[in-house]
Amino acid sequence: MAKLRGLTAKVEPHHRYKTPHQIYDIKTQGSGKSPRKIAEATLKKIAGDLKIKPDLSQLKFDKVRETILGSHVLYQQYHAGKPISGAWIRVDVDKDGRVFNIHNDLVSEPAMVKTRKADAKRAATTETKQLSASEAKALAIEAAAPAKGDAVRVVQNESCYYKHNGVPTLSWKVIVKTTPPRSGAKARRPAEWKMYVDARTGAILDKHNLLRFIDGKGRVFDPNPVVTLNDTSLEDYSKIPDKAYTEVVLRDLKKGGFIEGPFVTTKTTRNRVKRTNRDFRFKRTDRAFKEVMVYFHIDRLQRHLQEMGFNNVLNHPIPVNIDGQSDDNSHYSPSDKDLTFGTGGVDDAEDAEIILHEYGHAIQDNQVPGFGQSSEGGAMGEGFGDFLAASFFSDVKPKNMKPTVGNWDATAYSGAEPPFLRRLDSNKQYPKDLRGEVHDDGEIWSACLWELRAALGRATTEKLVIAHHFLLARDSGFEEGANALIAADKNLNKGENESAIRDVFVRRGILPNPKRRGKRAGQPFDEIRHGVRKKSNGHGK
Ligand SMILES: [Zn+2]
Repeated sequence: MAKLRGLTAKVEPHHRYKTPHQIYDIKTQGSGKSPRKIAEATLKKIAGDLKIKPDLSQLKFDKVRETILGSHVLYQQYHAGKPISGAWIRVDVDKDGRVFNIHNDLVSEPAMVKTRKADAKRAATTETKQLSASEAKALAIEAAAPAKGDAVRVVQNESCYYKHNGVPTLSWKVIVKTTPPRSGAKARRPAEWKMYVDARTGAILDKHNLLRFIDGKGRVFDPNPVVTLNDTSLEDYSKIPDKAYTEVVLRDLKKGGFIEGPFVTTKTTRNRVKRTNRDFRFKRTDRAFKEVMVYFHIDRLQRHLQEMGFNNVLNHPIPVNIDGQSDDNSHYSPSDKDLTFGTGGVDDAEDAEIILHEYGHAIQDNQVPGFGQSSEGGAMGEGFGDFLAASFFSDVKPKNMKPTVGNWDATAYSGAEPPFLRRLDSNKQYPKDLRGEVHDDGEIWSACLWELRAALGRATTEKLVIAHHFLLARDSGFEEGANALIAADKNLNKGENESAIRDVFVRRGILPNPKRRGKRAGQPFDEIRHGVRKKSNGHGK
């Protein structure tokens, strides 16, 4: 361990300059002077150890930060009137005016000598040309390598010295943000490049992305305890056994310790959880459990969409408020483009099927902005969300729960066995079973999609269902939806599933039955009678 001449303390040396980097266990007297005065006096004492000018003329006072530990006095090193990037020293002074810790990243004199020599050499030669701010900016944008269509924004561009191999080198510090378009062809991430451009040569001395994506640890229900344990006796107040939980990886979290990544952010959740170690293994008794639920399930579903080839469907972070309403309901807001979950009964964000249902609304609104203007469109939206959830989790569900959704959520209100929010295997027909309520009527649509899944398999059906949304308009209804599925199949599968699709929609009454002179399977009886009477009247009875 190195020794200091100016102070009694322990020291860790700087890896490059070999000067004291970390100074701790300092033996000093307390003082009634201001923290800044105390810090300055200390720095003068150890300037020789730090190998900086003893008059501190290279340092510029930055600020005093007050914390629970006392006052932290910060200085930055300057050369020729310009800041040296990353060259800082912090003096920590406790409440009794005692310096107890110092953190030093200043450039030592031997390295500064090299900088002065380079400056002098440049001044002596005719080669005095320096990059202008706009030349530096252009080079940095080129180095950021934005893809076609990316929005590019320079958020900082300043002249400074950059410690290149430890030697301060006159540079431009440029920060360039690149943002892929929301409907780009490929799944790309935004970047925030911080770069140092050599002011003389134009070389990029350093470049790194300030946006970091890192995996975290999480614990979730997948999809919920009723399904996982095949136990319909569980209720909101039951003690949920450990076996109901699954440990998962939370992929690509941004640095900062919050739950946010490329496809989900909980930024609209009040007092959201922060864990800089990215360990988010909670249980349902912790409110943050729901943040983990929405992150994991939406992130996984979005990646599933991308694997199917949908790279431009809601490919950006959706804001989620995990408990923004106290009733037993949740919603997607088409104006704010965010999700809010309710806490009545079993909290909605504790059931992955409810999460996927709500995300389904967001998907559809992203594909067809304003979708659901007609009441049938609204029903298609509900039916699609139910299908999305049921289809995604079908493989892990007990047989009797497969054609239902929300088995955990529904323990709070359903009298059925197993409890469910809605079914996908109703025998409802169109139009006779329309009730004018979007969720009820959505069971007609989801039943069609569910039958298609049975006929064509999961992968083909999910792909057709997502793809056909691109062919819909905001006021589309059931029949247009059925025809769009057929059109999507022509496009994707050369129409090989057309008869299977027609068969489903004809039996449900959504498409007219050509074998029955275009009548619908679900035509209401009184409408048929009405028609017969009219006809018989016409025949002069
Ligand atoms: Zn809904």
